[in-house]
Order: sequence, then structure tokens, then C-alpha cells
Amino acid sequence: MQHIPTPVHGHTVRTQSVAMRVERVPIRTTTRLTPGGERHRELSVYCPFQARTFGAEECQHCARLVTWTDDPTAEGAAIVCASEQTETRAVALHFGDRMSGSLEEEAARTPIGVVMASTCVTAEGELEIAELRLMLGEKTGRAFPVVDRDGALLGVISADRLGPSVPPPPPSRPGLRELLSRLAPTKVREVMTAHVVAFPENGRVREALNAMLVERVRYLPVVSSEGTVVGLVWDLDLLSWLARANRPAHEDDHGRP
Ligand code: SF4
Repeated sequence: MQHIPTPVHGHTVRTQSVAMRVERVPIRTTTRLTPGGERHRELSVYCPFQARTFGAEECQHCARLVTWTDDPTAEGAAIVCASEQTETRAVALHFGDRMSGSLEEEAARTPIGVVMASTCVTAEGELEIAELRLMLGEKTGRAFPVVDRDGALLGVISADRLGPSVPPPPPSRPGLRELLSRLAPTKVREVMTAHVVAFPENGRVREALNAMLVERVRYLPVVSSEGTVVGLVWDLDLLSWLARANRPAHEDDHGRP
């Protein structure tokens, strides 16, 4: 492990006259809701040097690692890593970096992997609708990627599509009641939207905005090069990134000088 003095993410520091590029990399938490009501949690990072997502534990063996985190499961947890600036970097801009080109240029070269939220909840297609409703409680207006047991994308489910938590009373006629109970969907995969645009984690912010406009959707499931779901990017994530990238250099995240 290299010794780097006072890491400041996205900036260059010098140690023993070698220019080092320092990155703060968020640890991402993906929670998969599975049949039986269990929650499987996985910690991952989108490595800015390798431009791909993998298990966060791999970072502990990486020569670029500068600082691990005390609690990788905490909200906002991140690690710090560094490399010589001459090394090829896949990512030119991270949260908090200042613009170095026009906004359009930045949007055209920034991967969605560094923009999307660091937490994501997915639901397995075989999960019972009633179980998912129970796990979500009163939360509505949210959407989740639906995945198979390997984490591959099957579709998307919106919490609003799960129906009321208190079902309407069944019809009094026995024949009709049995027919309805036989036909009623029970699994998440039966009510999900199956035709969704999967967006690659190395796709750029500008492409994601275009895809949302063309498809008229507010979110895109994001997949790794192996085809597993690594997140869900919302229009608000992109707007937030645009606002940060476009803010004057003398202002902080809250518009204060
Ligand atoms: S520690 Fe290494 S593997 Fe992990 S994000 Fe940093 S450069 Fe990538």
C-alpha cells in the first residue's frame, strides 16, 4: 500500500516528487429481496481506474488503496485510492470535481457508474407480491429492478403496481371467487414491466439523458459488463449531477460562496 499524505479526492498530490491522482470511491450497497422475505446485501465499488463494478472486498488487495473505511456498510461510506497521474484513468470527473470543459463535454465523457446513487434495492422475480408489499410497508412511488437469482435484469417493478395492501373483499359467488384467485398474479415477475432499457454502467451521462427522453422514462436500470444489475439511475440523479458540474467554481454544493 502506498503512503499518500492528506488525500483529497479528485485532486493531485505530490509525494517524493511523484504526481498522484487521488480518488474517493463510494461503496455501493445493493440489497436483493428474495423469496421467503430475506434480504441479501452486497457491497461493491465502481472502480474509476478499471471502469467496472466488483465486490468491495477486492479493494483490500489493491496496491492503489490508500484508506479503507471503518464501516463499509454506513451511509456515505467510501474508500480512498490513488495512482500515478500518468496512469490511464477511465473517469475524468467525480462528484465534487470542478468542470474542466463545457457541460456537454463533461456529460459526454462521464460514466453513469459514478453518477448513480450508492444504494440500490432489487427484487427477485420469484418473490411473492404479498411478501414484497410487506417488506416495502407504506413506501410508494419507488421502482426496483427485478432480477433472477444471479442478479441479471428481468424487468422493473414500481411499488404502485403491487396493488393495495388491504385487498378488496372477494366476490360472494364461490365459482367467481375461485376463478379470480386462480388468475390473480402472485409473483413479482407476473406484474413487472418486462420491456425495459438496460443501461451499461460505462454508458455516459449524455446517453442516459437521451435514452430517458426517447423512451419517456424517469429511471434506467444500470447493468455491469457481466449483465448483473448494479443500480438504478433516476432523472433526479442526473439533474443533481448537472447542477454540480455546472456550478461556479467559487460555490459549494449549496450554492454558497
Ligand atoms: S482500491 Fe483499487 S480496485 Fe478498489 S476502487 Fe481503488 S483502484 Fe479500484
